[in-house]
Order: sequence, then C-alpha cells, then structure tokens
Amino acid sequence: MVAARRFDLADADQTAALGATLAHHLVAGDVIHLDGDLGAGKTTLARGLITRLDPTARVKSPTYTIVEPYETRALALWHLDLYRLNGSADLDVLGLGDALDRSALLIEWPDRGGDATPPADLRIALAYTADDLRRATVTALTARGIALLRLLDQSLKQP
Ligand code: ADP
Ligand code: MG
Repeated sequence: MVAARRFDLADADQTAALGATLAHHLVAGDVIHLDGDLGAGKTTLARGLITRLDPTARVKSPTYTIVEPYETRALALWHLDLYRLNGSADLDVLGLGDALDRSALLIEWPDRGGDATPPADLRIALAYTADDLRRATVTALTARGIALLRLLDQSLKQP
C-alpha cells in the first residue's frame, strides 16, 4: 500500500505553511526528500518548516554550500541541496549517517546523491501547475513516513 496525499498550493505562503505544519512532527532521524524542478518551491517549503522551528533563522538555499545546519530548540535539522554534487563520493564526506543520529534531514535534489542519499521516510514532490499554483504530492515510503503523513493530515484538518 502506498500512502499519498495531494495538496493544492495557491501561492508561496501556502507552500511555506505546508512545511510549517510538518515542522513540529519531525524528530531526529527523519528524512524528507523534496523533489521538483527548479523554482517548484522546494526551498520555500523548507524555509516555512525551518522558520516555524526557529523564527529567527535566516534560511538561505544550500545550492552552493550543499548543506546548511540548524540548531533549533526542538530539533537539529540539516537542509541539503544536492543539485551541484559531483557524485555520491561528495556526499560520503558530509557524514550524513552520523548526522541522522541527532538530526532530521530535508533534502532537495535527492537523486543527485545516488545510492549515498539516505532513503526518504516522506517524499514531497512539488509540481508547477500555473503561475503561482503548485501541487504537492506527499508520499509515505516507510512506516515512519506513514505516521508523519497521518500527523500532517490531522494537523491540516484542525480548524
Ligand atoms: P526550488 O527550491 O524548488 O528551486 P524556490 O522555493 O527557491 O524553488 O523558488 C520558488 C519560487 O516560486 C519563489 O520565487 C516563490 O516565490 C515562487 N512561487 C510562486 N508560487 C509559489 C508556490 N505556490 N509555492 C512555492 N513557490 C512559489
Ligand atoms: Mg531550492
């Protein structure tokens, strides 16, 4: 059984809000993949998630640094963008396996890391539909992912 949910996002604020909703459910060891073309809204969602945990965080795209770590009160979190990675050897030196012991990972362009990319609990695929509209397809890929998707669903149903 594949558990998946779709969300229509009318503008960048709604995309950020989806990230923010997920924020407080994350724990160390959780891995979220963010898929979608350039400009689809991956960093926008990540920014919404991170600033919910730390409103003072200045979230910049990790396009050039590959990884930006955040220490928030509730959670340590690594935001990664693997677009510019030169193969999985580059990823090995980052020590993601060790990071997972104490951090959650949010990974843009996860496919660029090949086999070295930690597998996702939850995959969020963002697709451009028209102008500011985006569609997010959230897919649970592990038992933990199913739990996260359920928590996300419940949070969004609350008034
Ligand atoms: P990515 O990280 O996927 O390359 P970004 O989040 O950096 O994408 O950029 C998305 C761009 O699209 C931003 O300039 C943002 O303001 C704009 N945008 C317009 N509508 C949306 C939407 N519904 N969701 C996310 N971003 C949107
Ligand atoms: Mg980005």
